Amino acid sequence: MVLAQLGGSISRAIQQMSNATIIDEKVLNECLNEITRALLQADVQFKLVREMQTNIKKIVNLDDLAAGHNKRRIIQQAIFNELCKILDPGKPSFTPKKGKPSVIMFVGLQGSGKTTTCTKYAYYHQKKGWKPALVCADTFRAGAFDQLKQNATKAKIPFYGSYTESDPVRIAVEGVETFKKENCDLIIVDTSGRHKQEAALFEEMRQVSEATNPDLVIFVMDSSIGQAAFDQAQAFKQSVSVGAVIVTKMDGHAKGGGALSAVAATKSPVIFIGTGEHMDEFEVFDVKPFVSRLLGMGDWSGFMDKIHEVVPMDQQPELLQKLSEGNFTLRIMYEQFQNILKMGPIGQVFSMLPGFSSELMPKGREKESQAKIKRYMTMMDSMTNEELDSSNPKLMNDSRIMRIARGSGRQVREVMEMLEEYKRLAKIWSKMKGLKIPKKGEMSALSRNMNA
Ligand code: GDP
Repeated sequence: MVLAQLGGSISRAIQQMSNATIIDEKVLNECLNEITRALLQADVQFKLVREMQTNIKKIVNLDDLAAGHNKRRIIQQAIFNELCKILDPGKPSFTPKKGKPSVIMFVGLQGSGKTTTCTKYAYYHQKKGWKPALVCADTFRAGAFDQLKQNATKAKIPFYGSYTESDPVRIAVEGVETFKKENCDLIIVDTSGRHKQEAALFEEMRQVSEATNPDLVIFVMDSSIGQAAFDQAQAFKQSVSVGAVIVTKMDGHAKGGGALSAVAATKSPVIFIGTGEHMDEFEVFDVKPFVSRLLGMGDWSGFMDKIHEVVPMDQQPELLQKLSEGNFTLRIMYEQFQNILKMGPIGQVFSMLPGFSSELMPKGREKESQAKIKRYMTMMDSMTNEELDSSNPKLMNDSRIMRIARGSGRQVREVMEMLEEYKRLAKIWSKMKGLKIPKKGEMSALSRNMNA
């Protein structure tokens, strides 16, 4: 999960507050201080964090909260709203329309992940039925065309570029014309980057933009620069009309929170985030589901989206049926462990659920987590069908636990630990009980219901 560390610290702070018998000023302050520390560590600007803290205290007036009010819920909601405010630029981005040609120009510094992101963006839309095409107008960096060509070929996306032409404007114009004739509806123009913001880069960007008249200019930025993203995003905005931002490398940097909030402060919408080097490590960025996930509330709309996107059609009904029954058996846990180990498409889906990835497979500790999952599976191999298919926790009495431990060559303590893990995941799973399979466009309604 993106920003797992930040999310983990915030949800732990909320959890600790919930564990307190009485939520008074002191408990609330401790929780807010913990969240403040976590946000500052993620490089979110001090001023924003301070404002957030003041606002929450204003909203959550503990004295006014009548007895019987669920204080924890009110505080959690206030934290949710404030984090959304920090990340929301308050401005939607231009959305291209399928079937109608749109020119999308990508700009950014060299090394930001611009070329990789162009292909990810094309690939994402191609999977949704668009007809994308890639134009390499980066004549500055040697090898740029080869890189784009290689990526495009892998994803079976048409591309345009030249080894000999050195004028980026000419290539961009020719590429756009070619693909318009071929009825492509998403013509993506990759432009040159430089190591730093310099006049030549901005001048070239302006010329390509003037010649191709893009419907949308996307600025690609590396998240590792944290709150310095504000100045970088502003500088690009002033030179060319940036309509949206994609923040990359959110998988590897603790400063992602700072980068996202800094971009929001420039009033540019972040539309996607890059979460890895692979083509499909790319996520739509939507403030509410993102914060929801960050707080461990689960990104239900993203989860359903992902199910529709990556689970083969014929397996969707069965999976959704199991989810809607809310009955989490040890056998289902076993199957999900298999998926997670394969990290196949369903593994990716489950990594979006709270608890499945952040706690079971924390980033950076994948090896240990895999070993743990394999250990759990060995123990489950010693279970009877009745045990695997039951969702009655009382069934697992001492003699059964001892038998499983003996059968798998493990300690009783380890079997108990595995059963505790099962209970934890069953609790998460049970939240999906009654899940309705949403039709397109109903995702946000679902997300509201599940978070309520
Ligand atoms: P460009 O110079 O801006 O076109 O950057 P490239 O597309 O060549 O990317 C630079 C490096 O960043 C490459 O090694 C990419 O694989 C890597 N990269 C791009 N996006 C991501 C991302 O979201 N996560 C990670 N971990 N690496 C990325």
